Amino acid sequence: MDDPPDVTAASGTGLARRTFLGGAGAAALGAAGVGGVGMFTGSALTPAAAAPPVPEADRDPLDLLRRMLAHDTRNAGQGANTRPHAEMLRAVWENADVPTEIIDTPHPDNVHLIARIPGTGSAAPLLMLGHSDVVPVERGKWSVDPFAGTVRDGQIYGRGALDMKGANSATVSALLRHLAEGARFERDIIVLTDCDEEAGPYGSEWLAKHHWDKVNAGSVLTEGGWFLARRDGTTPMLITATRQDKLYFNLDLSAHGTATHSSKPSPDAALVTLSRAVAELGDWLAPVHLTAVTREYFGALAKATDDQEFARALGLLLSARGQDARERAARVVVKRSSYPWLHQALLRTTHAFVIGESGYKENVIPSSAKVRVNCRGIPGGQRPRDFLAQVRGMADRRGVRVALAAPEGRTEEQHLDELDEAWAAPPADIATPLFRALSGAAGETYPDAVFAPALFEAGTSLAPWRERGIPGYGVYPYVIDNDQLVAMHGNDERIHVEALRRGTAYLYRMFARFLD
Ligand SMILES: [Zn+2]
Repeated sequence: MDDPPDVTAASGTGLARRTFLGGAGAAALGAAGVGGVGMFTGSALTPAAAAPPVPEADRDPLDLLRRMLAHDTRNAGQGANTRPHAEMLRAVWENADVPTEIIDTPHPDNVHLIARIPGTGSAAPLLMLGHSDVVPVERGKWSVDPFAGTVRDGQIYGRGALDMKGANSATVSALLRHLAEGARFERDIIVLTDCDEEAGPYGSEWLAKHHWDKVNAGSVLTEGGWFLARRDGTTPMLITATRQDKLYFNLDLSAHGTATHSSKPSPDAALVTLSRAVAELGDWLAPVHLTAVTREYFGALAKATDDQEFARALGLLLSARGQDARERAARVVVKRSSYPWLHQALLRTTHAFVIGESGYKENVIPSSAKVRVNCRGIPGGQRPRDFLAQVRGMADRRGVRVALAAPEGRTEEQHLDELDEAWAAPPADIATPLFRALSGAAGETYPDAVFAPALFEAGTSLAPWRERGIPGYGVYPYVIDNDQLVAMHGNDERIHVEALRRGTAYLYRMFARFLD
């Protein structure tokens, strides 16, 4: 169903395809377009003398993704073994004559891979940032082997299929297609396959600190923006590129009680006290806060949807005067949305109960119980310090203590100051060649969908570039449905194969805007 960009489509963009036009002429263009030879018909035409012979399998994002998924790059918190994955990918680049470098970190076999496609140098480099590590799996809860790259009912399964080996395979395949066609870009394109994104000390911050010259760029694209579907789950509706990430912080809730023999429970058990507060907070939602970024997003969503009731709720949300009306409209938006938890997260600070700690022996009632709460705040929305005060007020009444989990060596107040600063940081400028390319390619590839900038509900490795004032954006280049979205960091992670192919075509068109 998803048309890959054939030569006709590429020529329709008005972009100079010297290989096609110079090597084969307009007649061949037409013939290849009609014939639909392969995914990218460039290989069917006479290649330019300088074009490397890129294997067909490497230009196929599904083939490449299956090879990526076969490498177990699980990161449980202290880094992963990313070397075999990096070596596999390095061979792919070197087949196409692209210089690469594996950067070792102090953690053995936890490595970064950098490939650099040299351009003419007339513009600052574009950096494609895609992590190779993945979160752990609950094997027993998967219906397939998470490292086999199983394709079932048109979907490719595996840990990292969505986050974000799928995006990486689309990026590499799209670039290799250009190279196979003899393309030359106006700028260097750096593809950084990083480690320690999911957790660990040697991620992009470490890399930027030690090897800035290798990753310095004029703009960066990484994971982020969702490609949302209509209610059928596959027809593109809203294509987004994120320009801002939510703020990440943790709270620790703790309760204390009498430690005693479990045969004679007293009424102040720490676990019971903590559970009461968790139950109350679990049902509570932080207040809705809209910003310029999320207003633009929800406005685009209202235009994109064909669900009139949903569009009306979004209209009420955006026009609400006063918090009560805003909260009422937000409830309807979430209820009516095909992506309820995503939209819930874009409306407010979220808090998730992630790690509980208490007890060590059956015949001992523990004296303390603790739970870590992972929170994500909206830049320019509710300040993390205000959210903390609200949670503290509720927990206090239940006899539960709340602490902001500050990084090593910092006080709570110092960390709140840092969060204030991040809260006030503006979103990435969108008047840039990269953002225009993301938008233009969306119009060509998903002509019936709406394109919009957005807020990312999670985090990325973009911090080192953003701190240096370099604009960074995010996309996951495949249309996903809500079940697939829920399986991210969950079980049976998967994406549609056709969505991956079309997303690769999207990135191919995006890169075409940087041709010399
Ligand atoms: Zn990710």
